[in-house]
Amino acid sequence: ANNHENPVLAGLNPDQYRAVTHSGGPLLISAGPGTGKTRTLTCRIAWLLQSEAAVPEQILAVTFTHKAADQMKQRLAGLMGPDAVLPEARTFHSFCFSLLREIKNAADHGIADEQDRRALLAEAADRVRAGGTKVSDRIETLMDRVANAKQRILGPDDDLEPIAGESAPLFSRIYSAYQDLLDIERLWDYEDLICQTVMHLESDSVLCETLCKRLPFVFIDEYQDLNYAQYRLVRQLCPADGKICVIGDPDQSIYGFRGSDPAYFQCFETDFPGAETICLRQNYRSTQTILSAAGQVLGPKNGTRHSEPVFSGISGTPYLHLIRAADQRGEAVAVGKTIEQMVGGMGFDFHDFDKAARFSGDGAHRSFADFAVLFRTRAQAEVFAGVFQDAGIPCRLVSKAHAWEAAGIAEPVSALKILEGCAASRDLLRVLGVLFPDFPQKDMADLRAWGRRRGLSVNGLLAEAHRTGVESLSSGASQSLARFVHQLTDLETSTRTDPAPEKLEKIFQWLGPFLPQASEQTKETIAELRRMAGAFGTDIRGFTETLALCSDADFCKDGSEKVSLLTLHAAKGLEFPVVFVAGCENGLIPYHRAEINPADIEEERRLFYVGMTRAMSELFLCSARTRKVHGQTRQQQPSPFVAEIAADLKKQAGPNFARKSRQVQLQLFSK
Ligand code: ATP
Ligand code: MG
Repeated sequence: ANNHENPVLAGLNPDQYRAVTHSGGPLLISAGPGTGKTRTLTCRIAWLLQSEAAVPEQILAVTFTHKAADQMKQRLAGLMGPDAVLPEARTFHSFCFSLLREIKNAADHGIADEQDRRALLAEAADRVRAGGTKVSDRIETLMDRVANAKQRILGPDDDLEPIAGESAPLFSRIYSAYQDLLDIERLWDYEDLICQTVMHLESDSVLCETLCKRLPFVFIDEYQDLNYAQYRLVRQLCPADGKICVIGDPDQSIYGFRGSDPAYFQCFETDFPGAETICLRQNYRSTQTILSAAGQVLGPKNGTRHSEPVFSGISGTPYLHLIRAADQRGEAVAVGKTIEQMVGGMGFDFHDFDKAARFSGDGAHRSFADFAVLFRTRAQAEVFAGVFQDAGIPCRLVSKAHAWEAAGIAEPVSALKILEGCAASRDLLRVLGVLFPDFPQKDMADLRAWGRRRGLSVNGLLAEAHRTGVESLSSGASQSLARFVHQLTDLETSTRTDPAPEKLEKIFQWLGPFLPQASEQTKETIAELRRMAGAFGTDIRGFTETLALCSDADFCKDGSEKVSLLTLHAAKGLEFPVVFVAGCENGLIPYHRAEINPADIEEERRLFYVGMTRAMSELFLCSARTRKVHGQTRQQQPSPFVAEIAADLKKQAGPNFARKSRQVQLQLFSK
């Protein structure tokens, strides 16, 4: 076929073309931001399918977020046509979750969320205390240690000294009790998904071989963010001469604090001898100005750059915009004002606030979806969300807790899980708590303990309790429970064949009268929940799983007319025409932790680099002179990273801007 007419190959540059049509074994694509790595990977998958080198069932594409996986599926659908059968694009965790359930024949297992983990670890610590041992570790410490151990594929009986030091023997007992509780609850925690999959694959070579045969084509995006457990998984999934294709950029490795290590990226060629390496150099996303400035943050002064510099043929505003506001509210107002002006298409000179001259950008007419505000910490985001809301600027905030865990949403989702037979005991308690607010706490605990002693799942417990009664419950609680089982059975019968959205609808009808008045935010989340449910049809399990495995980045939905407020971490892989990096102040960028070591600073640098390189046309670096941190007003110095950018690449907003931005009301869109 003519390459220019084939949508899979059209417009690729020669290096991208080579990567897409590479035939044979391991392939590494190592390149800087915006060079089309993700696009190349998607085209390569499409190419394999188109040229009949592979069928969709043989391909596994792994990404780090559901959003990235979704985006890949959409791009593939765009290339292959709407009717094509598409291969699996999954996150590491969702892939392992399905695999683990298949291997262990454990269809009723669910995923422990943050609250589950906290509660179960507290209970595990209590069990150890009950044996007469003093446990003084904080739950957070224990949670960190468990996660840490699992990221290193260490079980309770392994040598845990590297994790817990002197208290390793004690930690081992708590860890072990915690695993028992997870088992009883039929739950896996996030790290279990990968850790246990690896343990299974490593101890069962037949299983491993079967899997390699079933999925000979493996693709991994953002390979530089692999942690040890994921690395071991990859080694099991792909033979050394296998058809593995990974892409990444060591300069964008930002998950060291979660155990990621770009060393696995660097040893790809050793692990997979004969691997072909392809570098991409041209950036198709950002203006050269943005790239030059971002490059100065990484090196050469700092000598920390790993990959080749990228270049761009896109020209535009020859400088970044610096906004320095009086305080954090002023910062948000200044950003809001700027967005209003740009959306209003009025033309706007940021550097002289009084002059409504057309600024020297591309003068494009912007919509709200073109903007992103990026933060180091979530606390910053709330100030912005507040100011934007008051001003009537539609925005989407990555919330602190998972949106699905909020009151008014969590209960219906829990009810859905109970209906579906994949609930944990906390789901039961949650729904009971809503329906029967005076269900005594003690009876709740008794009920749970009763089920645990019998090793019952939630649905098992309900059936058994209904059959035999629970002797220790008060009569009020027994009656409530009986009513609950009754209502549930009715609902189960009437919704048996319903697809996810209808089921959810009926659950909302059932629980609605007992739920608190929904806020705007809650209503929006419910709408989003319904929309997501629609995509799953009758696959309710798939739907609840996806909810459980969602990460921050997944809340940034495409196609809606809103400004995105996200953390720098969640912005990975995305792009926006206009980007504001908020809080460019020493202490936030780089972020000051209790103990800072040089490696952390380097990671902070890369994080800032990732943030900057999300911008296509305009990049604003914003800061405040004073900021309230933990209730105290602090004087803030500018970020040292910003100082490393050459003076001629940045331009400060005029003095009027900072001053006026405090007084000026946001008007254009205010209600
Ligand atoms: P990151 O490192 O930030 O994840 P990336 O290398 O994965 O970036 P992509 O997101 O794949 O980059 O591509 C960046 C942008 O460049 C996208 O909008 C993509 O469509 C565009 N692009 C990539 N290759 C080409 C090309 N050959 N011609 C035109 N546009 C391209
Ligand atoms: Mg990418």
